[in-house]
Amino acid sequence: RLRDPDQPEFHQAAEEVLSSLWPFLQEHPTYLNNGIIERLMEPERVIMFRVPWVDDRGQVRVNRGYRVQMNSAIGPYKGGLRFHPTVNLGVLKFLAFEQVFKNALTTLPMGGGKGGADFDPKGKSDAEVMRFCQSFMTELARHIGDSVDIPAGDIGVGAREIGYLYGQYRRMRNEFTSVLTGKGLSYGGSLVRPEATGYGCVYFAEQMLKQRNLDLNGKRVCVSGSGNVAQFAARKLIELQARVISLSDSGGTLHCADGLSLEQWTSIAELKNMRRGRLADLANAPGMTYLPNSTPWHLECDLAMPCATQNELNGDDAAQLLEQGCICVTEGANMPCTLEAIDRFHEARILFAPGKAANAGGVAVSGLEMSQNAMRLNWSAEKVDLRLREIMHSIHQACEKHGQEAGGYIDYVKGANIAGFVRVADAMLAQGVI
Ligand code: NDP
Repeated sequence: RLRDPDQPEFHQAAEEVLSSLWPFLQEHPTYLNNGIIERLMEPERVIMFRVPWVDDRGQVRVNRGYRVQMNSAIGPYKGGLRFHPTVNLGVLKFLAFEQVFKNALTTLPMGGGKGGADFDPKGKSDAEVMRFCQSFMTELARHIGDSVDIPAGDIGVGAREIGYLYGQYRRMRNEFTSVLTGKGLSYGGSLVRPEATGYGCVYFAEQMLKQRNLDLNGKRVCVSGSGNVAQFAARKLIELQARVISLSDSGGTLHCADGLSLEQWTSIAELKNMRRGRLADLANAPGMTYLPNSTPWHLECDLAMPCATQNELNGDDAAQLLEQGCICVTEGANMPCTLEAIDRFHEARILFAPGKAANAGGVAVSGLEMSQNAMRLNWSAEKVDLRLREIMHSIHQACEKHGQEAGGYIDYVKGANIAGFVRVADAMLAQGVI
């Protein structure tokens, strides 16, 4: 905290990990004696750079770009790029730190990193987004590579942005490699990558419910967000006969008391992905109520899936969810629940899974995209989806193994942190003090 007083999100992520790891570390002093914690807290490298670009009126604009290369003990740095006005070094360090544990949990050989810029793609033309992406990649290209650092998408970086970024990299390097994941199918992308984070989150929730001999059939699920993760979590929930009673964006919440139909889901996906519209545009649509400036956490539900952004669900929201009868919270976003909210869920002994376990499906399929690129092969959707399910099950098993508490309760935060930590820390110990 003394070293980086202006990075509250990073402190929050570190506190969550360290407080749940502490008893385990005391039982295994080798990790403490070798400075593993101190080394995990410090990125291997941080790159910050100017991103100049020209808008449609011919004005020069300047944004700040970043790449945080956090830890490469078990593989090349891997993690998304975020384009959002709230991006700063503290936010990216928290995301990169979480990514190290998440990637280890997948059991694939991927280290952790994260990057992005304080650029807001909202309201920009395609041509402006393209010029920004080209300028961003012109600097980033010298720091990444298919066996060095492999970025992907995150908030504000979807298929369009990945296409422009990849095009610029290929032009500069004159090589066609797996330097980015989340690529389009026509140029090396993997089937099921767009769906993977949301689907994986639902597969994880299924496993959690199984703990208590429950399933998703007929359950009311509050989903927040309406971007990539939220859309595909909602889609899989609908397929599995759950009732998706909400989606949201930064303007408000769309409430659908009877549960979204596939037709309603399709119109929302079209609005968000093709027309880049707002949920408020659906305020008068049949069967849906729009609640401006509202989050979904006051709605009566059985499950909650926060899939928008960090700290979108606080202690008061948690109390409301518990009051409404919520029994399971599965994080689709990274760190959407505050520490206070997590404490409340644990105190109430409901099922709670942190993002580093529940949303690892996206990076897992990115890992599979890299494998397919290396082999110059494309796997079928069935094959990728099966591997995704297997990986989510194995992450759940790892959480069960390390997160067992008295009375059979599973502390998924502790389970995920210990399982991810051991894999990275053992590799660091073996490689000496570097
Ligand atoms: P998108 O950009 O596709 O969607 C983000 C959604 O969250 C939008 O609905 C957006 O609303 C909302 N949102 C973003 N910032 C805020 C904010 N400050 N306040 C309220 N709402 C906000 O991003 P993704 O779906 O890809 O990412 C969502 C979360 O999932 C992030 O935490 C990301 O790190 C995490 N994640 C994503 C993965 C992926 O594969 N994409 C993998 C693992 C984790 P609006 O449009 O109004 O801004």
